[in-house]
Amino acid sequence: MKLAVARNEALLGVRCRACGLLQPADERYVCGDCLGPIEPEYDTAALARSDLRRTIEAGPDTLWRYAPLLPSRPAAGQWPVGMTVLVPAPRLGAAIGVPGLMIKDDTRNLTLSFKDRPVAVASARAVELGLTTLACASTGNLAGAVAAAAARLGMPAFVFVPADTELSKIMGAASYGAVVIRVNGTYDQVNRLCGRLVDEVPGWGFVNFTLRPYYAEGSKTILFEIAEQLGWRLPDHVIVPVGSGALLTRTATAAAQLVASGVVPDAPMRISAAQPSGCAPVTDAILDGMRAVRPVRVARTIARSLAIGAPADGDGAVQVVKRTGGSAASVSEEDVALGCELAARTEGISVEPAGGVVVAAARAMARRGVFKDGERVVLYLTGSGYKQGHGDAMSLAPAIGPDADDFFAAYPTARG
Ligand SMILES: [Zn+2]
Repeated sequence: MKLAVARNEALLGVRCRACGLLQPADERYVCGDCLGPIEPEYDTAALARSDLRRTIEAGPDTLWRYAPLLPSRPAAGQWPVGMTVLVPAPRLGAAIGVPGLMIKDDTRNLTLSFKDRPVAVASARAVELGLTTLACASTGNLAGAVAAAAARLGMPAFVFVPADTELSKIMGAASYGAVVIRVNGTYDQVNRLCGRLVDEVPGWGFVNFTLRPYYAEGSKTILFEIAEQLGWRLPDHVIVPVGSGALLTRTATAAAQLVASGVVPDAPMRISAAQPSGCAPVTDAILDGMRAVRPVRVARTIARSLAIGAPADGDGAVQVVKRTGGSAASVSEEDVALGCELAARTEGISVEPAGGVVVAAARAMARRGVFKDGERVVLYLTGSGYKQGHGDAMSLAPAIGPDADDFFAAYPTARG
């Protein structure tokens, strides 16, 4: 297929992770030889000779500033995505015993989750390939990200979600005009359904299936941004929530590419994994001696965006954690809720339960003595609590009359 848009000169092709074959970056989404997973590969030596750091710094204030290390070009009219803040979190750090803690706040993306990043890259690729419809299997956040991106590009969107996905996320995706297909089944069953459909719906791009090699590349940009925001150095340690495992494995890829391109000094960076114990195929495998991932058949957790029982990049995630000297925690539902509460009350950041999982995992790892003195630890907070609702209104104090006496009767200590 002939591509309509000038492509990234540094993109060498796509390499199979199973058999190692380097092949053209065309419309294929698995290895043309063995059907293994493929990943874009870049000429990092040429990028190192090109003063990549300056190219990036002169780029747009979006994730496309990292275009030399991304496999597609931005599509005309796309919403700006990325460049979310990295902030110190001293009060949360004190509460959970991690001095020097920092937060990468991806609750502030276009549709309030980090999924806008992979969708930006995948939807740009869909435009390059001349596809006409965007689709995905989603636990909730991806549906919204795909729906918004498709609306902006003037494309129809079909998003497939488990029928019991939070109504707020379903309605969010529907509000952008997407067709929301609710499926009676788990996320893994929804994913398999999409796998059966891909060959029968020509012109459709399933962002996390037929566009997956491009989609997953968008996840690298969180780490790219963190390194730039730290003044072009890698953080010492990042804590990553694990659903499919793609965000965690691509964090390692991103760090390796920055080092190979001469953008940051080579330095150790530990990568640790966070999952809820109700769906912990990856973190349990890490804690159980770095064994192979065993799929979880029935996920039971409020952290719905991490409820993926058969993670596509699960074993890859275990290997990355092992190789980087990272760790993991599988945290209880009570601790997930506590994690959300701590993030909100100590730092003023509202996170969905997946964020609570990350906070609780950092707390658990601190108690185990995982962190070293002076280590700069960054939490990935990947989804906003505002998409989730904020719990039970019954826990609120009664309303008062529009009257100062009413106020002081209810809050006598306010007078000091
Ligand atoms: Zn292969």
